Amino acid sequence: MALQLVQPVAPGDYVSWPHDYVPYVLTVASLLNLEEAQEQVLRHAHPLASEPVPIAAAAGRVSAEDVVAGVDLPPFASSAMDGFAVRAADLPGKLRIAGESAAGRPSGERLEPGSAAAISTGAVVPEGADAVVPIENVVRYDNDVEIAQAVGPGAHVRPRGGDVAAGEVVVPAGGALTPARLAAAAASGVAELACARRPRVAVLATGSELVVPGEPLGPGQIYETNGVMLAASLAALGVEVLHEPAVADDETALREALERGLTADVLVTSGGVSVGEHDLVRAAERGLGVEEVFWRVSIKPGKPVSFGTRGDTLVFGLPGNPVSALVGCELFVKPALRALQGLADPLPRFEPGRLAVGLRRNEERDEFVRARSRFDGDALVLEPVTGQESHMIVRSGAADALVHIPRGNGELAAGSTVRWLRLATG
Ligand code: AMP
Ligand code: MG
Repeated sequence: MALQLVQPVAPGDYVSWPHDYVPYVLTVASLLNLEEAQEQVLRHAHPLASEPVPIAAAAGRVSAEDVVAGVDLPPFASSAMDGFAVRAADLPGKLRIAGESAAGRPSGERLEPGSAAAISTGAVVPEGADAVVPIENVVRYDNDVEIAQAVGPGAHVRPRGGDVAAGEVVVPAGGALTPARLAAAAASGVAELACARRPRVAVLATGSELVVPGEPLGPGQIYETNGVMLAASLAALGVEVLHEPAVADDETALREALERGLTADVLVTSGGVSVGEHDLVRAAERGLGVEEVFWRVSIKPGKPVSFGTRGDTLVFGLPGNPVSALVGCELFVKPALRALQGLADPLPRFEPGRLAVGLRRNEERDEFVRARSRFDGDALVLEPVTGQESHMIVRSGAADALVHIPRGNGELAAGSTVRWLRLATG
């Protein structure tokens, strides 16, 4: 028997014999580390072509361009209070009431020395006036006001352009259109935003054991879990989800289902990417022209994750165990979709926290532990849920945090600072 090494072997490399390789050719594939794998995904995930989106429909999307203020904000010197517009130099003193400036109804008159104009919050400060005295500090008579205190010029006046000047950027290209950013664009007079079109994502669960909830379970069958989870997780990103019916581990059926899914911008499968006899997804995809970029990443759970492309379509093969699928979705699929949406910073946003208990590190793989977060005084503390095996999805239902335990030797002691990712809590 001849053995041919197709790559040099280093300690820690993963050695395998995938069933679809030529017998007796020993293949050696190093596990990619997480950062390298994410980099590869993002290298293939470019923002989709942009389209004009009315501002009222742009919530949750990403601006493809710098949005520029069309006007100064505020567009005119305006009052910050209900009260009287005055000349600061006239105070303290008794002033004749001369006209009113209400929000949206400027008085249009110049304020003469010795006079005060009634003014409401957001109204134009009349020409000649340089301060506003709040109504609480005024004694009002029929035609006069008595103001006992001096005020400085500019008091309670919002200067024109004090928030932003016309021509300045109010939403950067690649910025998520959060409610506050939408408000910034609206305040600047912008009616329409350029956004990458919404990605279409096909979600396909594979496995002959899967049964739709609602049907009775036959021998050896389990309820289909991943499709529901992935569709919900991705829909929350604002993408269009095509939730395909689950497909059996059968070459013909799989081919048909994959071919349909490959017409989307992103195809996400679950199951069938491991090394078993019935793990057919990667071979079927190869047969359909998918070029694999990587397979297997040094994470736990989720090691057998695959990623490839066919034309512009990104293809993710998540492992079947539901917790592995959840972790793969957070670490690879969601960042890719955020990148397609045009987000400038698409990687998961980890936060710092402290471990409530000591955890043994995995020597080869970065581990992602499901936990509950809570405050202990000012410290955010992470308590792992019991039951960390990758099939235990019900246990994950109680978690709001995915805690990153970097690979290494020995234990991370209780109280150690770690990074964690917030899981959707609804
Ligand atoms: P696989 O990755 O296909 O080897 O599957 C690994 C494990 O995940 C097996 O125990 C499968 O029964 C289970 N599994 C695969 N797909 C799903 C799914 N959609 N829902 C729930 N469990 C699944
Ligand atoms: Mg399977």
